[in-house]
Amino acid sequence: MNLIIFGPPGSGKGTYATRLEVELGITAIAMGDVFRDAIKQRTLLGKKVESYLKSGQLVPDDVVIEALKEKIQEKEGRTGFILDGFPRTIQQGEALEKISRIDAVINLQVPERIVVARLSSRRICKNCGAIYNELYLKPRREGKCDVCGGSLYQREDDTELVIKDRIKVYEQQTQPLLEYYRDRVPFVNFKCETLDLPPAEAVMEILEGLRRIGLYKK
Ligand code: ADP
Repeated sequence: MNLIIFGPPGSGKGTYATRLEVELGITAIAMGDVFRDAIKQRTLLGKKVESYLKSGQLVPDDVVIEALKEKIQEKEGRTGFILDGFPRTIQQGEALEKISRIDAVINLQVPERIVVARLSSRRICKNCGAIYNELYLKPRREGKCDVCGGSLYQREDDTELVIKDRIKVYEQQTQPLLEYYRDRVPFVNFKCETLDLPPAEAVMEILEGLRRIGLYKK
């Protein structure tokens, strides 16, 4: 099963994708993580993308498409994937069509005031990437990951100014893609109106949506 998860920054894509990965036995591929790892490891790709991530602008399509192809090849032989953060432009969508079939789009709809509040209080484990929140998804020990004990940090682009820019970029460049997919693949729409909806509940609702279109049997 090959899925795409769409939603503005802070809508929960990463959190839900990693849980759906376990539930559905497919691989979650997070484009932002691919880039952040490359920056950390100072690879050629990392050098190319660093300034874009810092400012919240999109990395050029050719660079992203090449990076995604490599990632999918690495995972070849698995039962499917869920893409988080790809495609983000029509051109990326067209490139994806040549690489893989897509079975469904999960579309997260979350109002701006909620995503801004979430992102400015988001914390991430340096070691395993688990996602926390100072407001409502707190770790048991302050500053430490529940899963692996790693230290938590705040992403460099999770500052109010950059967050506003990322939302703008999403509205202008990525939202038009939803129209592109609407008459091509089935949609699972998920609306979130509260700041502190437990991820497990959101995931249940998404699975229910996948069940309705015949992609989830349990
Ligand atoms: P967000 O929560 O803001 O959606 P991500 O971790 O998915 O964050 O992405 C972080 C940054 O990585 C983006 O602001 C952008 O600079 C870059 N990026 C990630 N995916 C893509 C993509 N498909 N195309 C271009 N740039 C991307």
